[in-house]
Amino acid sequence: MIRIEHLGIAVKDLGISVPLYEQLLNTPCYKKEVVETEGVSTAFFRTGESKIELLEATNENSPIAKFINKKGEGIHHVAFEVENIEAEMKRLAALGFELLNETPKNGADNKLVCFLHPKTTNGVLIELCQEKK
Ligand code: ZN
Repeated sequence: MIRIEHLGIAVKDLGISVPLYEQLLNTPCYKKEVVETEGVSTAFFRTGESKIELLEATNENSPIAKFINKKGEGIHHVAFEVENIEAEMKRLAALGFELLNETPKNGADNKLVCFLHPKTTNGVLIELCQEKK
């Protein structure tokens, strides 16, 4: 894994949280993107080598809505950048980590992504991401 690409934070309302994080990080949100297949609306901020991704649910069946109902707002996932997502998925599956998708899927911010089930990673939802070429 190359680096922590971003931290995903579940929020109830981007309309409130985007200006809040712009103040906190002292940098403007540089991208907003809806990923309808995932039921999320996202907003991105640059923080040096990494990014912050705010996630708001677009519907009540969204994984973000379920997360917030259960745990409230907060850190939702840690995303690691990888060179070759398919090779990394194969490596981790062979080690017994549970992948939530069997093939890479399209994520926000021009990425191919795969999530690892938190039950095999000490309660942390892990995202692997690879820049689409
Ligand atoms: Zn993410």
